[in-house]
Order: sequence, then structure tokens, then C-alpha cells
Amino acid sequence: MSNLGFRPEDVVLPVGHFLAGRLVSGPADIPVTSPGNGRVIAGLPEAGADIVDEAAQTAARVQRQSGWATCAPRERARVMRRWADLVERNATELARLETVCSTRPIAQTLGWDIPFLAEGIRFFAEYCDKVGGDVAATATNLLGMTVYEPYGVTGAIAPWNFPLVMASWKVVPALAAGNGTVLKPSEMTPFSAVRLAELAVEAGIPVGLFNVVQGTGLATGEPICRHGAIGKLSFTGSTRTGIAVMKAAAESGPKPVTLELGGKSPQLVFDDIPCVNEVADRIFRAFTGNAGQVCVTGSRLIVQRGVADALIAALTARCGEVVALAPWDAAASYSPIISETQAQRILALVQGSVSSGAQELVACRRMDAPTGGVFLSPGMAMVQNVECALWQEEVFGPVLAIQVFDEDDEAFALAEHPVYGLASGVHTASLSRAMRAIRTLRAGTVWVNRYGRSSDFVIPTGGFGGSGIGKDLGRQAFEANLRLKSVLMAAE
Ligand code: NAD
Repeated sequence: MSNLGFRPEDVVLPVGHFLAGRLVSGPADIPVTSPGNGRVIAGLPEAGADIVDEAAQTAARVQRQSGWATCAPRERARVMRRWADLVERNATELARLETVCSTRPIAQTLGWDIPFLAEGIRFFAEYCDKVGGDVAATATNLLGMTVYEPYGVTGAIAPWNFPLVMASWKVVPALAAGNGTVLKPSEMTPFSAVRLAELAVEAGIPVGLFNVVQGTGLATGEPICRHGAIGKLSFTGSTRTGIAVMKAAAESGPKPVTLELGGKSPQLVFDDIPCVNEVADRIFRAFTGNAGQVCVTGSRLIVQRGVADALIAALTARCGEVVALAPWDAAASYSPIISETQAQRILALVQGSVSSGAQELVACRRMDAPTGGVFLSPGMAMVQNVECALWQEEVFGPVLAIQVFDEDDEAFALAEHPVYGLASGVHTASLSRAMRAIRTLRAGTVWVNRYGRSSDFVIPTGGFGGSGIGKDLGRQAFEANLRLKSVLMAAE
């Protein structure tokens, strides 16, 4: 563990767009700040519509001419597996590029994000030759069939909270399905995506098939959504931006969209749980992982009265144990907040809720770290009603809102959210309660006696309602990058 740590100033940053296989720099339009110490580490050029056009046209030309979509699918799979190997071989560099500007501690980027990314590439590589269609001999001399084909070029727009993993869930299935792609990482975490694209070229993915453009949502993201050569969009980010993406896709196509959006995920704890401490560990990790900056953060605790006091006491003890260390410190496990603006937003939301009646059990406060940076300690509040902002709004910080229930029906009613339906957790020893939860909860994922993904890529992820449309991962994410063509062939 001890050789994990690094000095941020030693990391060589690939600052620029990645177009047609080259790093293209430009004016330092956007300051990139490291949340671990609050310092500006680079000035990022911003792609306007002209650079987005160049990226999309290049990807379209290469996709048509390189044979990527028409080669033997096993050949495409072989190149992708080589890409996964290169990701593993360059894990330290990728992990540092990720950690230097994001909220992800180095032990986690190196121990989880990068291995998960490499395995994800291998997972989708295995789908390259698993594209089937239907055949129907509809009449004598008439053969009907369906064939899948790639869209040509897909657009991918990613958030800052798990920069590489989120971006890879979009570009990897798109490439595996035979598309070219244009990726826009978050302007706050722009570097690791460039290195990922460089490694793709090194693995043998045709130069210009996978391009990365840097910039903010309006200047760079919107032109991607509206570009005529881009046939499909995959977006991960807030619900508000997802709606804008869908609107742009509708007005400029329409083109299909996959949207992975925000959440306000409930965790239901029944008083038959066998071990309070174990459940406390799960609940704590679920609302403090990445300092709550996870789409599926389990931010609403719905706990049965019989176990409420013991669980809250166990959670309170854990809240006092977190230590603020810069993400590049080998011992860091707790994350900073991505920006000062975001920290102020979180604190204001908590304060507003407390002023309107929420009872703070553990205060979410600023923490001092040796390197500076913006850290907030985990907080918990008892919420009096479902209208409370802490119960309604995605905080995207380490804050748990709690309500206590008596009867099962109450718990299921409290779990319902008017907008979000991303994930949910159920903690119970009763199989019938678990089955009822699985059937009742309006959420794209129901976790029973655990919380959070495992590395089973075959199980997709995605939300209901305001939490999104479509799925990342699984065979579904691969198939979403293909369109179905119907063929009817008559013998002369
Ligand atoms: P965001 O919506 O602010 O930005 C996401 C991306 O969209 C960024 O790259 C941004 O530059 C771009 N963007 C902004 N405006 C745009 C526009 N008009 N057109 C096109 N692109 C635009 O989100 P964020 O703050 O980066 O990420 C946090 C949010 O992401 C949270 O709401 C979180 O729940 C959500 N998220 C969801 C999932 C999921 O799988 N459901 C996963 C991770 C994060």
C-alpha cells in the first residue's frame, strides 16, 4: 500500500482533445482544479462546434473506411482484449490521471476503477460475435430476415464522479458493436479519457475511430447532441442536463438516447435483520462512498422502529471515524467534494432543511485535511415529512435523511419518490418481504441484503422515471449500440 501515494505535480497531464490519433492542444480556456488541494493544475482548451464537427466527421469516415464494422467480429474482439491488457499494463498512470483531478482516492482507482474498466472491455469484447437476427421463410421464394448494424458514430457524454468507468460504459459497447465514437468527459475530470483513447490506438483500434473532445456542456456537449453524423447518444449526468440532451437529440434527429441520470435512493431496513453492525456498515458505505457523490448513493434511510435506535447509534459512531486525506495519499479512503461550489450547495441544502424542521443527528461539516481541499464530514438528519428538501433532492454529498416506520406498507410508501427511480436497498431476513420489495419498489435496481454493484457486468444498470432511459452494462448496453434492419429477399 505504501508505494501507492504520489505527488500531483509529478503527473504528466495530457491536456487537449484527442483527434484522429493526436493530442490537440489549444488556448487554456477552462481551469481544471484538483479537489484534493484546491489548486488549478491545468488550463483546458474548449471544443466548439467546429472541433466537434471535425471529431464526428473523422469518426464517421474511419468507421466507413477502416473495416472496423465489417471485419470478422472475432478480430474486433481480439483488438479490444488487447486494449484491456494495455489498460492493465498502464494502470498506475491511468489511476493517477484519474485521482489527480477527481474525488477518487488512489487506493480505489488502482484497486477498483481501473481493474473494473479492463474487465468491462473484456466483457463487451465477448459480445462482438454474438450479434444474431431472425430468419423467416415467409413464402416460397421469399426469405425474411433481420440484421443488426452499428449506427456509424455515437456520442458519449460523461460526468465527473467516476470519470473513466462512466465514460467506458458508453464508448466500449459502442466500439464493440462496430461504431466510431466521440466522447466528451466532464470538464472537471478530462485527462484519463485521453489516455484511454491513446491506448485504444496502441491496441489497434483504427486511428480516428475514438475521438475525445474537451469542454463544457453548452459549448461542446450540445453540438455533440445536435450533430447530424452522430446517430445515437449515451449520456450520464444530472436529470436536468439529461432532459436538455434528450431535447437536443429530438430536435436534431430524432436520435435515440441512453440516459443515466440522478437518484434519491431509499434503503429499507426491517427489524428482523440478523446483525445491526453489518447492516450499519452497508448503509454507511452506501451514503459516504465517494463522499456521497455516486448516482446510486443510498441517501434515504427508512428504518423500522424496533431497530432504529441501535442502527442510528452504530451509524453515528461510524460518522466520527472518517479521515480527510488528499486522494493521492496512499492511506486515503474518504473522498473530497468535487468543488467549493458543490460543498456550499450541500451545506446550504442541509441548513435549509434544518431550519424548516429536520433534526440534525450528526452535523455535516467542513473537515480540515493536511493538503487543504474541500472535505465534508458525513451527516445524518431525521426528517419529519416527505416534503423536506433533504428527502426530495439529490444532495450529491455525504448526508443521510432518515424516517422511521412501523408497518411494512408505510415503508414502501415512503420509498416512493415522485421523480427518481434509480436504485433501492432492502435489508431483511424475510424472503417474503424481499420478494414484495422486488415487486413493489419503482427503481431500476433493487439490492437485497447488499448495496452497490458487484462486478457482474451481465447485470445492467439504469433508472426508471426521472433517473433515466435505457441501460449501461449487460447485453442490453451492447444491443443499444446497434440498429435493426429488416430484409425481405425474393428469388427472381
Ligand atoms: P451534469 O449533468 O452537470 O454533467 C454531466 C455531463 O454533461 C458533463 O460532461 C457536462 O459537461 C455535460 N453537459 C452539461 N450540460 C450539457 C448540455 N446542455 N448538453 C450536453 N452536455 C452537457 O452532471 P455531473 O455534475 O457531471 O454529474 C453528477 C450527476 O450525474 C448526478 O446527478 C448523478 O446522479 C449523475 N450520475 C448518474 C449515473 C447513473 O448511472 N445514473 C452515474 C453517475 C452520475
